[in-house]
Amino acid sequence: MEHKKKQQVETSIAQGMHFIDRMTGAVIPPLQPSTTFARDEDYQLLAPQHSYGRDDNPSFGPAERMLARLEDGEDALLFSSGMAAAMAVIQALKPGDHVVAPAVMYWGLRNWLGHFCDNWGLELDLFAPSDMDDLARKVKKGRTRIVWIETPCNPTWDVIDIAQAVNIARDAGARVVVDSTVATPVLTRPLALGADIVMHSATKYLNGHGDVVAGALVTARQDEFWERICAVRAEGGAILGTFEAWLLQRGMRTLFLRVRRASESAMRIAHHFEGHKKLEAVLYPGLESHPGHAIAAGQMQGGFGGMLSLRIKGGEKAALNVACKCSVFVRATSLGGVESLIEHRYSIEGANSPIPKDLLRLSIGIEDVTDLIEDLQQALT
Ligand SMILES: *Cc1c(COP(=O)(O)O)cnc(C)c1O
Repeated sequence: MEHKKKQQVETSIAQGMHFIDRMTGAVIPPLQPSTTFARDEDYQLLAPQHSYGRDDNPSFGPAERMLARLEDGEDALLFSSGMAAAMAVIQALKPGDHVVAPAVMYWGLRNWLGHFCDNWGLELDLFAPSDMDDLARKVKKGRTRIVWIETPCNPTWDVIDIAQAVNIARDAGARVVVDSTVATPVLTRPLALGADIVMHSATKYLNGHGDVVAGALVTARQDEFWERICAVRAEGGAILGTFEAWLLQRGMRTLFLRVRRASESAMRIAHHFEGHKKLEAVLYPGLESHPGHAIAAGQMQGGFGGMLSLRIKGGEKAALNVACKCSVFVRATSLGGVESLIEHRYSIEGANSPIPKDLLRLSIGIEDVTDLIEDLQQALT
């Protein structure tokens, strides 16, 4: 096994960790639908880690091992959604604990955190994502348990300096959890920068084909806090179905190809439309004009991701009009799939949203980039 560790991560992932079924020679892992697992004549479980399907299932193994390898962590857990993964972290806290999170982040999680912290007796403070002094002010020594980070953050793509946030959190005795859904393990390695846990909505780039809702956590250390998270999943049962876990390991095998292609195309689109007379701004961390560019250039390797936003001159109506005139981009929510999507976020988030009304969010897929540019070009004129 030792020689395999030295392989590049891309090799391990393309081969599903060099999976070979010793019984059949199959190079693709089998599906195991069983919900219960038998004991032998001495009343010992045949496989000690498997007793009941709400705790664990052999079908999770291939995808969880790939996730641990992708993030270089000690252990990984699959969940039924990205939200379930995030909730498991927060539910492992105790009443009175203090959480700090960015003011701009995935809106579903921001909303849930607000309600849940109130009801659960947790204290929540939000910090301005591009202001590390604000984070330092919000963190409370000995009281803050989690500094939550999302970078680049949805949908302005502000960039948070993970290493700097880790320094601030360490001084206060807090853990850093990074929602790395948008950056993906291809472009950013939060654990290598000192973070404690990485969270993914595997629904997005990791699976990449728009046919699985899933979440994942990867931990740097199998410590007591991780044990509590494992218990939240086993006791609450927010597990993935066996077929979905199988689809996810298949999707992840092409992760590097898909993310690199999407990043290259997003960069070309951002450059092409920067300064366009119908646009207020192109928001993309790969552009030197973006406020997070310098941090992104140091923290992200090999690209700036497949997500960008356009702010359309003329406000909400003009923005909706551009979205409606697209014929290659699909008008839909979500991100990280092989097909390009366009979305007016304000319409989705509603009146309390901090998102500008003129903003369109683009998830760049793997199509021919000239088709994507032409589609936006005609929609803007
Ligand atoms: C989609 C998303 C989530 C939520 O994940 P689900 O799989 O939809 O539950 C969390 N964070 C980010 C950045 C996302 O894009």
